[in-house]
Amino acid sequence: ATPTAIMVGTGLGAQRGILFKNAGALETSARITAVVMDKTGTLTKGEPAVTDVLVADGVDEAELLRLVAAVERESEHPLARAVVAHADNLGLLAAEADGFVNVPGQGAVATVDGHRVAVGTPRLMEAEGVEPGTLAERRAALAAGGQTAVLVALDARPAAVIGLADAPRPTSAAAVAALRAAGVEVVMLTGDNQATAQRIADELGIDTVIAEVLPGDKAAKVAELRDAGRRVAMVGDGVNDAPALAQADLGIAIGAGTDVAIETADVVLMRSDPIDVPAALLIGRGTLRKMR
Ligand code: ADP
Ligand code: MG
Repeated sequence: ATPTAIMVGTGLGAQRGILFKNAGALETSARITAVVMDKTGTLTKGEPAVTDVLVADGVDEAELLRLVAAVERESEHPLARAVVAHADNLGLLAAEADGFVNVPGQGAVATVDGHRVAVGTPRLMEAEGVEPGTLAERRAALAAGGQTAVLVALDARPAAVIGLADAPRPTSAAAVAALRAAGVEVVMLTGDNQATAQRIADELGIDTVIAEVLPGDKAAKVAELRDAGRRVAMVGDGVNDAPALAQADLGIAIGAGTDVAIETADVVLMRSDPIDVPAALLIGRGTLRKMR
């Protein structure tokens, strides 16, 4: 590798806010055959908003939201922040949560005003001994529309489904198209529900979807792709993406992401724009060509 080619490539990247941390990152970029992208906060804006609150018979919506918001106030998850913002917009009185437990990739549980409140995935409901019952259909309907549907149990009974929408970033579809044009396979990797993930993948032109992956299992999915012979770049923003960024041949962090993701990655996209993923790979290819 000639130092001049490396300098030119690094400089080209820096001009558009693509930070290659070292020469190795630039060289690896040229040889990537598959790009794995996290959904929430990477392909989407990561700013979900509550669109629907569907309560079970006999449940008061305002009271339910007040209890759920008390739990979610203790969480740093983007979905939790959206729920809290929704409750605050409605001017609901705040409540105190006791014994808060965060279950990564699944949701959260706490006691509020003497009620046990669980909010999250079907897996969490199962762990709580709750049968979703009729809420399962409503959840499926929301997910089919691309929304993330979160279940709520109150005192071990199914109480509500909260639908949240998180819009794709404006350049996500173009980024996927550019990667495919460059002969690179694109895979979506997410902890979200299969139906929700599939709907967004369809919208963006992504063929391969790996959904309902627990945070601890993202790295293993990347390892599987590598074992199958692909040279993998992983693009992510979250704390839960860091092990996968480390596991990939090339870790690419969204600049607006968490510090852990940025520290772990080999490349940082300062503009937080997915279109800079194909740009980074093409800069790498250009650099390698000059090195021959
Ligand atoms: P992603 O991989 O898309 O960034 P996560 O792994 O963070 O998603 O979360 C996976 C799923 O777990 C979410 O789609 C949601 O259903 C559920 N979940 C996690 N944390 C919470 C929370 N605090 N409140 C509600 N639901 C949650
Ligand atoms: Mg994310």
